Amino acid sequence: MISIAFAADQLERLMGMTGFPRGKESERYILEVRSAIQSAKTEAAAAQTVTDILRNHKRFPSVSDIYEAIGEENSRCGPPERQQEPVYGCKRCQDFGYFGGHLPPHLYAGPWKWCDCHAAVEYRDAEPGLVDEANRVRQLLIDRFASATYRGAKRKIGPDPMTPLVDEIYSGEF
Ligand SMILES: [Zn+2]
Repeated sequence: MISIAFAADQLERLMGMTGFPRGKESERYILEVRSAIQSAKTEAAAAQTVTDILRNHKRFPSVSDIYEAIGEENSRCGPPERQQEPVYGCKRCQDFGYFGGHLPPHLYAGPWKWCDCHAAVEYRDAEPGLVDEANRVRQLLIDRFASATYRGAKRKIGPDPMTPLVDEIYSGEF
């Protein structure tokens, strides 16, 4: 609810519009329109609605149009929704239930592992083979791309199996 004085100010803005009832009818309209404006949740909503009406209507609209416009503006001006950062129950696996799997030459290169959090228990029950499958795919990638790179780079890099996989070949998840 907003103050009568503020509603009256907004009403005055509307009274300048073409088609605003004059004469005898005017008084009744003034009261109706003021009540409509007062149904705004906030003064800002009332002022915005009146601005929109002035911008979008060539003639003074019906009182029900004003109520409708106020209602729309009211529904817009609820508490602003906060952008929420995703909240993970488990920081290590971000609730995926498993973590790791980085390919060499990643600093933490290593196989996928089940986490020990609550999410992991659920996923492990539902898909017990998940981590094994992920590691199978990971190993395929290493065999395929590491050896290909390794062949070309062998003489320069040497026989260390962890060094040959260069990042321009594969940098996905597995
Ligand atoms: Zn976890």
